[in-house]
Amino acid sequence: MGRVAVVGGGPAGLIAARELAEYGHDVTVFEEDEMIGRPEHCAGLYSIHGLRRIGAWTPRYVLNSVRGAVFRSSRGKELVVKRHTPVAVAASREELDRYLAELSASRGAEIEIGRRVDGVNLRDGPQLLLNGGWHRFDAVVIAEGMKRSLTKKLFGPAVRASPIPIVQSLIRGHGLSPDMVYVWFERYLEDYFAYAVPLNEELARIGLASRSETLHTLERFTGEKFPRAKVLGYQIHTLWLEGPLDVGLEGRTVLVGDCAGQTKPLTGGGVVMGGICAMAAARHVHTLLEEGRDGTYRRLTKWIYYDLKATRFLRDQMRSKVGMDVLIELAAESGIEKKLSALGDMDFHALSVLRSLPSLSGLKFLARLLRALI
Ligand SMILES: Cc1cc2nc3c(=O)[nH]c(=O)nc-3n(C[C@H](O)[C@H](O)[C@H](O)COP(=O)(O)OP(=O)(O)OC[C@H]3O[C@@H](n4cnc5c(N)ncnc54)[C@H](O)[C@@H]3O)c2cc1C
Repeated sequence: MGRVAVVGGGPAGLIAARELAEYGHDVTVFEEDEMIGRPEHCAGLYSIHGLRRIGAWTPRYVLNSVRGAVFRSSRGKELVVKRHTPVAVAASREELDRYLAELSASRGAEIEIGRRVDGVNLRDGPQLLLNGGWHRFDAVVIAEGMKRSLTKKLFGPAVRASPIPIVQSLIRGHGLSPDMVYVWFERYLEDYFAYAVPLNEELARIGLASRSETLHTLERFTGEKFPRAKVLGYQIHTLWLEGPLDVGLEGRTVLVGDCAGQTKPLTGGGVVMGGICAMAAARHVHTLLEEGRDGTYRRLTKWIYYDLKATRFLRDQMRSKVGMDVLIELAAESGIEKKLSALGDMDFHALSVLRSLPSLSGLKFLARLLRALI
């Protein structure tokens, strides 16, 4: 068994730590903030299936249950994808992270809060710079989120694209149906969309990402869609929409979560995706330390990376050739929402589209799309 360090106590790091401790390794998580789960930067929307898959499901952090999503075009057309039973939850992200920390600690992982890692060095095995001294480990899992200072030191040239600024607010008085989430495609939202995640009948998290004037754009959106709502506070952060980096998948120093680009290119959601990859990374480290075999991480995440890359490709094509706004309208007109409701997966978008196409509505959608493209 080995001594393994995990840099970052977000969901990806904590899940990797839980798995590694479960395999029997001596695991320490270094988290620079003073509290796990804070500051909170998240809409907190996760698929129930995904949470179960990453071993993170418990009703404890659930604020609201969600049955589906309403997508609205700028001309007011709607695509509604929903099921009879809840498919997702709106959660307290702080509580989710705390739960994951408790799970890791109960398996034997040490969690050191208020401990920043200042450097990483691959010479003579992975070493981390902590409190001015270099410390050697048998393996290191880097889960530092969008900050990426260690990731850039190790794999700088692979991190070419930049994240997009995102701003989220909490509002009171949304007037939406609390069992649905809402997505708006507006002409002034070129880079992303605006969303609302109701937490109950009164409160909702609303947010949008935009490369320019992000806060101003959210104020405009809020004024247009929620003129009577009261804004209770803002959070500003960044989101990664560029697909996975092809590095940090081999050897004794691996990347997981946002720093590895393991987020969904359509939405930027990364808790479930990063969690699945963190489990693969832990298995990789275990296999490498116990059997000397490399390559497990790349092999286990291959199909996920295909989906993320295909989603990104489709998004870019649709955005430049048709426009997301028009795409929503074509989908609504073709009736594909029934298929998407039945077969769609909130976490794997390219796969959801693929599954829905072999049907009458799917073919109608394809025909309409081709007409719009030509
Ligand atoms: C506004 C917003 C809304 C979002 N909504 C959703 C959503 O609804 N659903 C969803 O799935 N995802 C959502 N996401 C994305 C989601 O928050 C991330 O994908 C997720 O947090 C990634 O987890 P992580 O563990 O990789 O990184 P993080 O959660 O960022 O954790 C990284 C941790 O590493 C620590 N750290 C960094 N550097 C160091 C260092 N040198 N030493 C020690 N510690 C360090 C940080 O303090 C941090 O705690 C949202 C993101 C934003 C910004």
